[in-house]
Amino acid sequence: MSNVVTRFAPSPTGFMHVGSLRTALFAWLYARKHGGRFILRIEDTDKAREVEGSIPHIIESLKWLGIEWDEGVDKGGPHAPYLQSERLELYRSYAQKLLASGYAYPDPYSEAELEGFRKQADDEKRPFLFRNHRPSLIDAWDGTKPLRFKAPRIARYEWNDLVRGPLSAGEEAIDDFILIKSDGYPTYNFAHIVDDIEMEVTYIMRGEEFISSTPKFLSLYEALGITPPAIATLPVILGEAGTKKLGKRDGAKDILDYRADGYLPEAMMNFLALIGWNPGTEQEFFSKAELINAFELERIQISGGQFDEDKLLSVNQHWMRQLTDEDYISRGSLSAPDLEKLKKIVPMLKERAHTFNEAKEMLTGELSCVFSEPTLDPKELVAKEPQDRPGLTKQALETLLEALKSLPEGLSADEVKVALMPLADAEEAIGKGGRGAVLWPLRYALSGQVKSPDPFTLVSILGPEESIPRVQKAIEFL
Ligand code: GLU
Repeated sequence: MSNVVTRFAPSPTGFMHVGSLRTALFAWLYARKHGGRFILRIEDTDKAREVEGSIPHIIESLKWLGIEWDEGVDKGGPHAPYLQSERLELYRSYAQKLLASGYAYPDPYSEAELEGFRKQADDEKRPFLFRNHRPSLIDAWDGTKPLRFKAPRIARYEWNDLVRGPLSAGEEAIDDFILIKSDGYPTYNFAHIVDDIEMEVTYIMRGEEFISSTPKFLSLYEALGITPPAIATLPVILGEAGTKKLGKRDGAKDILDYRADGYLPEAMMNFLALIGWNPGTEQEFFSKAELINAFELERIQISGGQFDEDKLLSVNQHWMRQLTDEDYISRGSLSAPDLEKLKKIVPMLKERAHTFNEAKEMLTGELSCVFSEPTLDPKELVAKEPQDRPGLTKQALETLLEALKSLPEGLSADEVKVALMPLADAEEAIGKGGRGAVLWPLRYALSGQVKSPDPFTLVSILGPEESIPRVQKAIEFL
């Protein structure tokens, strides 16, 4: 059995943006690739920052994307519970261990005293370090005061990041951080380490904002006598311009907003995987199975990966096009007054729409004429009539009407084109207006839209039966 265990450990502090999801995705891909285990743990120890409803939201976002966990909240497992606020006993027992071995002490100072130390450090232009104020007399810990870690040694730490290679930090990065706050909850710094140990996590994937705290984490592992897991620092996601960190406008929105905007989860997964990772080949489109197969930590880049909205649209269109026409309708929640006709125009939607929202807009916009008779503006009808050929529009529509009457039902757009194009090409029809003088009135008579599919496609979808009355009506206008 593989010993790869990864985890995603979000804090329930609000929405899930693409950066969080990408972290989850890489950790999950790595576990799947190596036949290991992937854990979902919720880090809810900062009650002030907690946003109600976040946990179901996290679960829904992951499920939507297609990331399933082997153990964790909503599922259980050998290390349950997976909600940190339900594991307080465990953190306390680790705290007791550290107290017993001399690596923890209650912080005896008041807020004002601490403020005084900070100000003094500020005045002397040196960084404030709590370890310079370790009390000489250590009280018993009764839980009313924060419990602090006593770093085992003030030293330089060196470690190997699986993405960035060798990293190190000097003793200025080591300090006596809080393990347990006076409200009884552990800090992130303490709780995540206890949990990673207890849950036997072997690989940690997280953002670069944690690099500066890593020496502190390593000193805590040292005090506990435990070998730390491997760490892979993921690159930041940059906004459209490729320079700044992702902002609200370019992708930092909630992941479920993409669902609401008509994106497919397989497209989102494909897209996210390629931000900061590449397969080393030209391949752009990856199914879930292909991603699992291709994923390598070695190909995660150090520099920021760009969030490219156009790329997302094209990846989404690709995956929309892979769906059968039936699936396209059902997964896009598309509806129309006539299901048979809707099925007929799916290829057209596949051709044009990049999201299901775009497809829906087309159904109520430029393609609405497929389902209901258009209202015509007589001025638009003759818009392409050449000056020197008054009456050409009417004449052309009459000729086309005759031709439509002899067309069988069920012709493809190409077959309709073969039947009608010669009429548009005929010498007397073309005049100065060209084919457009004939095809425009037909297209407009059928669609009532300035922007619509070509007339052959329209005839093919509507059939002569529905096309004929529309053309007749247009002739009456003239
Ligand atoms: N709860 C932390 C966060 O949401 C997790 C960081 C980590 O992966 O260790 O940022």
